[in-house]
Amino acid sequence: MRIEVENLTAAATPFAHTYRPEEVELEEEGARLVADAAVDGVATRKGERVRLRGTIKTEVELLCDRCLGPERAPLAVEFDTSFIPQEVEAGKEESVELLAEDLGLAAYEGDAVDLDELVREQILLALPSRHLCREDCKGLCQKCGANLNENQCSCEQGETDPRWAALADLKKEVNGE
Ligand SMILES: [Zn+2]
Ligand SMILES: [Zn+2]
Repeated sequence: MRIEVENLTAAATPFAHTYRPEEVELEEEGARLVADAAVDGVATRKGERVRLRGTIKTEVELLCDRCLGPERAPLAVEFDTSFIPQEVEAGKEESVELLAEDLGLAAYEGDAVDLDELVREQILLALPSRHLCREDCKGLCQKCGANLNENQCSCEQGETDPRWAALADLKKEVNGE
């Protein structure tokens, strides 16, 4: 959905839109929407500067960091984003983009603000960076890969295959533990 800049004034103009799950692409984060994303907000404009405020409500499915099982979580995101026009003059484009970033602003192209992109970005930012299906998730057996939440495998725990231990060390290193 695009919000026409010309129609906006200093007075709050309400907008609302519902995105179907497949309209919001999150695959790069290993997540997906499992419910519609309902967006509700108001738009204001001062000169060429547009401000969108509102909420996004949806439900996401993420993979547990330990057992890789899918887990659903409700997501409610509040956003308050200001946009300035994307300078189209040759050579100026980059500097305006940088300026916008510096000021914590976004840029819009042409005569409308792209709500789709805003919604996608806001949902991505709101995804938890670390996610467990439950606090005490037992994860997967490092030897046979069994999900230890569901059944206790017959592997001897505690004595780890050296190859897995090396991998676990590497993982800790990567995670900065
Ligand atoms: Zn888990
Ligand atoms: Zn096992």
